[in-house]
Amino acid sequence: MNSRLTNLRRELAGQELVAILVSQPENRFYLSGFDGSAGYLLVTADGATLATDFRYTEQAERQAPDFSIFQITGPISAWLPGLVAEVDSGKLGFEARDVSFVLHRQLTEVLAETNPDLDLAPVDGMVESLRATKEPAEIDTISQAAAISDNALEQVADRMQPGITEKEVAWELEKSMRESGSEGMPFSIIVASGPNAALPHHHPSDRRIQAGEPIVIDMGARVGGYCSDLSRTLCLGTPDDTFRRVYNTVLEAQMAAIEGIREGISGHEADNISRKVIEQAGYGEAFGHSLGHGVGLAAHEEPRLGPNTTGALGANMVFSIEPGIYLTGWGGVRIEDLAVMENGKARLLSRAMKLNMTGG
Ligand code: ZN
Repeated sequence: MNSRLTNLRRELAGQELVAILVSQPENRFYLSGFDGSAGYLLVTADGATLATDFRYTEQAERQAPDFSIFQITGPISAWLPGLVAEVDSGKLGFEARDVSFVLHRQLTEVLAETNPDLDLAPVDGMVESLRATKEPAEIDTISQAAAISDNALEQVADRMQPGITEKEVAWELEKSMRESGSEGMPFSIIVASGPNAALPHHHPSDRRIQAGEPIVIDMGARVGGYCSDLSRTLCLGTPDDTFRRVYNTVLEAQMAAIEGIREGISGHEADNISRKVIEQAGYGEAFGHSLGHGVGLAAHEEPRLGPNTTGALGANMVFSIEPGIYLTGWGGVRIEDLAVMENGKARLLSRAMKLNMTGG
């Protein structure tokens, strides 16, 4: 039995929906195993249908054994009535964050004609909240992705010399990860050196990296659809005093969160563990993003660890812990590890070396 479908059906019953139309690509893959780029799932209390077009029907049959395959041909008015034929009245959920304005209008118009007793109901984050809690096999796969990014970072860091450009470093990292089995990059690798490191999401440029300056690297691999997410801040040569102070503050903030996070803690409380350390060091204004986010089929997903997040961190959730400090004109430091909530606390899945600044 597909336990993911069982869990979804429990949610459907809880929200009094007769069915849900799943359109979000990662949600579609998560529930069905189908990784094609187009299609919808219709899940009811006892049925599960995967609707996709001619390009994908054979693949869908192979990848989604728990689903009956329904071939989409022509405009939505031509196939939607057939797809929803078995649900004639009640609330049909659609994924509010994924369905476009245009699609919503089409769904409304077609159903008004053919299924007037079926009401569209927006659903927000239903499958996403199921995805937040990982199964053992998912945690294994994410660990494999984490190992690929760990190894790539350590190997490339070993070879880096002053004068190499940010783009060259990013390409070395990407090559290394692809050669170790990573699927396409889950997000563009960030290599930000010197003043560029003050921009949390800087795009690698032709800037040549110099000795003594901060180099923020943020990268991830993908295995079986699952992502890893890793950030390290490096320095070629001898770091200056600012680097030591900022780096040690970020590391201390990160270690405090890794040690302090317990099962059941809210995303807000988790964020606050690191934020307090950074504020006490006088850099509160310079930590302008959240502490972390869930990682899985998407590089950013539930749960969220930030100042305004309320949800709790539960068992088997996988998330990043990534405090940072960014100083305009100088640069920045971010240190990010992936963790899984296990036996009540956070266990790290990433292992890449961190700089050791102690002892001067
Ligand atoms: Zn991240």
